[in-house]
Amino acid sequence: MDIFDKEKRSEVMSHIRGRNTKPEVKLRKALFAKGFRYRTNVSKLPGKPDIVLRKYKSVIFVNGCFWHGHEGCKYATRPKSNTEFWEHKIRTNQQRDQLQTLQLEANGWHVRTVWECEINNRLRFSVLVEELSSELKTQLRTSTKLKNYRFPTYEESLWKVAEPDTE
Ligand SMILES: [Zn+2]
Repeated sequence: MDIFDKEKRSEVMSHIRGRNTKPEVKLRKALFAKGFRYRTNVSKLPGKPDIVLRKYKSVIFVNGCFWHGHEGCKYATRPKSNTEFWEHKIRTNQQRDQLQTLQLEANGWHVRTVWECEINNRLRFSVLVEELSSELKTQLRTSTKLKNYRFPTYEESLWKVAEPDTE
């Protein structure tokens, strides 16, 4: 037995680093209305960030709670079947997210992760937009000029995120 029915499954699948998902569009519109200008899915940056605000040296990832394993979130529960498969899949996604964040930060980008549940909650969303807005303005004041893109090698980054192997 699968916890998702067919419709829900395809909805969930479409959110795996999906492009132009509903929550993503909602956030973009709100930022645009606040006067922020951005590019989307910039493929030359690690992780193809969903929203790139170059002027603010900032990128925003809109993460699906299930796929990216939102800690403590009710939408991030593991399916009852194939538990190991999902555990592995989601852990792999989290490690990749972490690696991409390191690569971006190493190059002077401010990285912000936003969770879909925050966008879908009306009350939280309006607070979130205010938070992002002031964060971005702070970035604009404090960030120095971006260095030329130079990403750590894959091995360098792995080394940085690696934790003692306890298994
Ligand atoms: Zn969540």
